[in-house]
Amino acid sequence: MSAAPQSPSILTFEEARRVVEQHAAQVRPQVAETTQLLSSAGRILAEKIVADRDFPPFRRAMRDGYAVKAADVANLPVTLEVIGEIKAGILPEDLPANLETGQTAGIMTGAPAPEGADAVVMVEYTSLTDNRVTITRGIASGDNIVPAGSEAKQGDSLLQPGTRIDYGAIAVAASVGRESLSVFRRPEVAILSTGDEIVEIGARPGPHQIRNSNSYSLAAQVQAAGGTPRMLGVARDEAVHLRFLMEQGLKHDLLLLTGGVSMGKYDLVEQVLSEFGAEFFFTGAQIQPGRPVVFGRARERYFFGLPGNPISTMVTFDLFVRPMLDALAGMVPEKLRFLRARLKADIHTKTGLKRFLPGRLSGEFEQAEVELAGWHGSGDLAAMGRSNCYVVIPPDRESISEGEWVAVMVR
Ligand code: AMP
Ligand code: MG
Repeated sequence: MSAAPQSPSILTFEEARRVVEQHAAQVRPQVAETTQLLSSAGRILAEKIVADRDFPPFRRAMRDGYAVKAADVANLPVTLEVIGEIKAGILPEDLPANLETGQTAGIMTGAPAPEGADAVVMVEYTSLTDNRVTITRGIASGDNIVPAGSEAKQGDSLLQPGTRIDYGAIAVAASVGRESLSVFRRPEVAILSTGDEIVEIGARPGPHQIRNSNSYSLAAQVQAAGGTPRMLGVARDEAVHLRFLMEQGLKHDLLLLTGGVSMGKYDLVEQVLSEFGAEFFFTGAQIQPGRPVVFGRARERYFFGLPGNPISTMVTFDLFVRPMLDALAGMVPEKLRFLRARLKADIHTKTGLKRFLPGRLSGEFEQAEVELAGWHGSGDLAAMGRSNCYVVIPPDRESISEGEWVAVMVR
């Protein structure tokens, strides 16, 4: 063996995550491109979105009912003269004249409130006879009318660059008339599986062979995070082939390797990365699954060496790759999202590692319940198929009892 990797550093989960976040914070923003509004969903905004006019642009009624002077409805019941009806979309010149004391106008949700009115009484508290309406419920000045410009003033920024565009952001952009948006280019992520036993999924595997599922789970995770996967196939457990494919991988924005990072004689990934002058920021984390996870940089590109066991590959992507990918995509990395759920059945483990075990979240509405998906270790893809989350077990807990609250990482 030639160039040996630097001395290994095994960090706690939190330390390792922070190391990735610190590097992610130094990543430079991407080049921007323009995309149609709807195609921008899930992308990262590269520009500021500004209010093109006041929001709302006029004093907007929030309810169907009657526009009144609040002072007129101080003593109840009161009967007012109806001088007109205001539909949403009415032209300003068609609005009834200034309301006088004792007068009201029918008004619909989304319509402009007339001059002189300072509140809208909901239709539910009124009864109409001819052109007179009796009001049975009092109201304060300002009720059910949104003042012009109270939500945003023309020129206010509504969305910042670096925002992941969700449906809320799409609505904001649509409301200011944006048919297209400037978004950051998707980062290209090279995906390289390793292992002499791994075959492509179209091939009929021999009795000694395993289909390459990791390249596909990773590609799906990369896509979901807004990146473009570049599949480099499977490297044999042999330095020349590995070096050849790594060389290609290090030309992309990020290189993800799976397999070959454990202590086995043919686990060559770190050794070959060292030949590219790699720096290693960590070479393991005190977690299960995923303990041998590697993070580093070579030729000015970040790489992750993810353990080959399929569950380990998926978990370590969510825990460590995701923040780097967020940063390469142009945003401040999102925090991991945990929720709390009641455990449905006792858990027994060993102490020492923080565990992220495939779990099944159930329960109605706010009553979240969770149980382990019952797995046979980090390679158990069948358990993954039965699971929809990870149950997080702190490193100091040997057992957790049914009914206790546990942290759950949703996926
Ligand atoms: P390794 O990390 O190379 O020691 O691999 C650990 C386990 O994961 C072995 O049982 C491998 O067969 C399996 N494995 C490695 N790479 C893949 C892959 N691309 N797809 C599915 N399983 C894999
Ligand atoms: Mg291997």
